[in-house]
Amino acid sequence: MISVTDLWLQLDALTPSPLPAERVPLGSTHNRILREPILAPEDQPPFDRSAIDGYLTHAEQPAGLVTLQGTIAPGSPAPTVPPSVGTAVRILTGSALPASAAIIMQEDTKAADNGCIHLLQPPSTKHIRHRGSQARAGAQLLAPGQLLNAGALALLASLGATTPLVTRRARVAHLVTGGELVSPEAKPAFGQIRDSNSTLIAALLADAHADLLWQQHVSDSRAATAGALAVALSTTADIILISGGASVGDHDHTGSLLAAQGFTIHCDKVASRPGKPFIAASRDGRLAFGLPGNPLSHFVCFHLFVKRVLARLAGTGPIALIHAQLAPHSELRPDPRETWWPALLTHDSVTPLPWRDSSDLTVLARANALLRVPSTPSDNSRVEVLRCS
Ligand code: AMP
Ligand code: MG
Repeated sequence: MISVTDLWLQLDALTPSPLPAERVPLGSTHNRILREPILAPEDQPPFDRSAIDGYLTHAEQPAGLVTLQGTIAPGSPAPTVPPSVGTAVRILTGSALPASAAIIMQEDTKAADNGCIHLLQPPSTKHIRHRGSQARAGAQLLAPGQLLNAGALALLASLGATTPLVTRRARVAHLVTGGELVSPEAKPAFGQIRDSNSTLIAALLADAHADLLWQQHVSDSRAATAGALAVALSTTADIILISGGASVGDHDHTGSLLAAQGFTIHCDKVASRPGKPFIAASRDGRLAFGLPGNPLSHFVCFHLFVKRVLARLAGTGPIALIHAQLAPHSELRPDPRETWWPALLTHDSVTPLPWRDSSDLTVLARANALLRVPSTPSDNSRVEVLRCS
């Protein structure tokens, strides 16, 4: 049985590089990874702009009375020269300004008669956003590898970079096996249970910014499972997830069907609790995972392995474990397999949550982390944690 750490190394080797890059309209690039440097096409800001509502004057205008001569509305071009001494022009936040001017805030003036205003102090350049003061034309503003969060999207929009080069989203097909499963809308007959893994996987993939191309439930019949797997393989999915049937029971067809389809099986068990029957397989750069049916095992295997692969395919690199302080009086049950314990991470402290067994869904809504409990008991209260949300 392979250890979690060794399986990580194998999965990293199976996903050596990110998915191909593609040009995508800006509105569809949220949470993608940028694959090109973004340079300022022109000075930022591209012209001197006013940061205030107020008045434009000559650079040497002293305090005192000035005559008003019109307005420069934001969006209209600036005059080529500043007003002459003794005159002023109304400006608003964002108005374009001529070079070598001064401005004064409305609050530092007083209305006067005959189209004049009184400047209570000399105007200055303090509130001018000078051309190129944020970046010069040609400066690199974003580097490849940048996550396109809302702030990055706003910057791209401001630069007119409306079709950035980004990593393609991973495509996933999900096959759910189990004759005992009914849909969440149905009332289960005695002995049946509702399928919760389809909903779980759909939401986890959305969180991981991957596309769920296809999702289907089949009974435990080998022929039906083989047929559904063939359909999953006929899609353009980069990753095939198969829920249930990953163990060695009479209904567990995942490993043998993947092998029959020409997949190399890299592991069929991993030394993790929950999560033991876990199949990782590959064929021609495509990956397939057989996830144990129990919902908590699903959650753990997704976060430990599937999410890691998705992060590598996106180009973000593996999700790092963090170190946290174990909450006092925590009771952890070590196991010969290392345990990934559902937990609540707050700041630097991690609290293990109660769970009965790998079918126990009641804990999942509160768990935002998995706490690594080594197989050999340790007194160390600094523990490793994998963040899950
Ligand atoms: P399996 O891995 O198929 O042997 O399933 C292990 C356990 O997980 C069984 O008790 C199944 O009923 C349960 N299980 C399998 N698939 C699901 C599912 N989609 N939703 C909820 N429980 C499931
Ligand atoms: Mg099953």
